[in-house]
Amino acid sequence: MTEKLFYQDSHMKEFDAEVLSCEAFQDKNGRELYRVVLDRTAFFPEGGGQTADTGYLETARVLDVQEQEERIYHMTDSALQPGKTVHGRIDWKERFSKMQQHTGEHILSGLVHRIYGYDNVGFHLGNENVTLDFNGVLTREQMREIESLANEAAARNLEVQVNYPSKEELCRIDYRSKIEIEGQVRLVTIPGYDVCACCAPHVKQTGEIGLIKLIGMQNYKGGVRITIRCGDRALADYNAKEASVKAVSHMLSAREDQIVEAVHHLQEEIFRLNGEKERLMSQILRQKAEQLSEGEEYVWLFEENLDGNQMREYVNLVLERKIGVCALFNRTETGSYRYVIASHKKDVRPFAKQLNAACSGKGGGKPEMVQGQAAASQEEISRCLKKISRHDGE
Ligand SMILES: [Zn+2]
Repeated sequence: MTEKLFYQDSHMKEFDAEVLSCEAFQDKNGRELYRVVLDRTAFFPEGGGQTADTGYLETARVLDVQEQEERIYHMTDSALQPGKTVHGRIDWKERFSKMQQHTGEHILSGLVHRIYGYDNVGFHLGNENVTLDFNGVLTREQMREIESLANEAAARNLEVQVNYPSKEELCRIDYRSKIEIEGQVRLVTIPGYDVCACCAPHVKQTGEIGLIKLIGMQNYKGGVRITIRCGDRALADYNAKEASVKAVSHMLSAREDQIVEAVHHLQEEIFRLNGEKERLMSQILRQKAEQLSEGEEYVWLFEENLDGNQMREYVNLVLERKIGVCALFNRTETGSYRYVIASHKKDVRPFAKQLNAACSGKGGGKPEMVQGQAAASQEEISRCLKKISRHDGE
């Protein structure tokens, strides 16, 4: 049984302990690692939705920490000698951040439970994201209200209490718990806000949490999943968002509090310019069509940069020139061609079929218009069209 120093003092950053055992093993990538057991440790093992602490035992890097039957196993990248006393240091910045997130989560879950009666049914405290799942739906306004109350709890700098009630005492206490716990229950209490069975270390005073910020909410399994950032992560999130706002503000030459309006104007301008572009394109296509001599039996055209609508529009303008069959090929970015073949006089499907067979093409449509693609060069397509038109009508 390993003595759990993280329960005696959640702010213990360094400690000395005796190495009880050290066994080599291979991880799933075939890397040789060591499984170290100490007589006592300040490293919190993975549990309660929180990832394991990392750090050092002497110069050995602690990569993961797991608990099995009251024994705590430290996975290290180098060996330690059993019987020796070693100095341990946990990565304090990360651990403190996790405690900020976790205690923030307890306050939020406690408030949601007390005010709306929903349970926290899922909690994940990763190295980046912190998510909590509730088994009921909340509106954004309700979450804003909860966020405000949670920050009030942080500002009141309440003491986070930990106790180990007896079975009899426990019967009289109303507390949150995800699972039926066998053995001793560890209760974490934030007076007036939350009482919860939890195995993880927490900050000592709620003021240590700093800002509690809800940054996302989505519907999830009939309830909601909320993404939060507390303390240092909330500050980092603010910094990243501030940088974005400043960059957009600079690009738009707009004041930071007016960027939404500025983007709205930009969207309107793009909409207007697109309309103008379409109008000019139609004009160009009409002029090009008018330059073709009237009454030809076959016309084939090669173009670039036309979209599907423009292709069909152009073909129809060409057919207005009393043209029998019009085949329009538009070069794509990959070098192949998209085509539209149309006629007011005859079924163009056999024509397209021959083209597809000869020019690695595919496509289809109605008797009066087919659309498709051909993976061939302009020369190959021209040669093929000549052949088809010559044999046509024979
Ligand atoms: Zn917890």
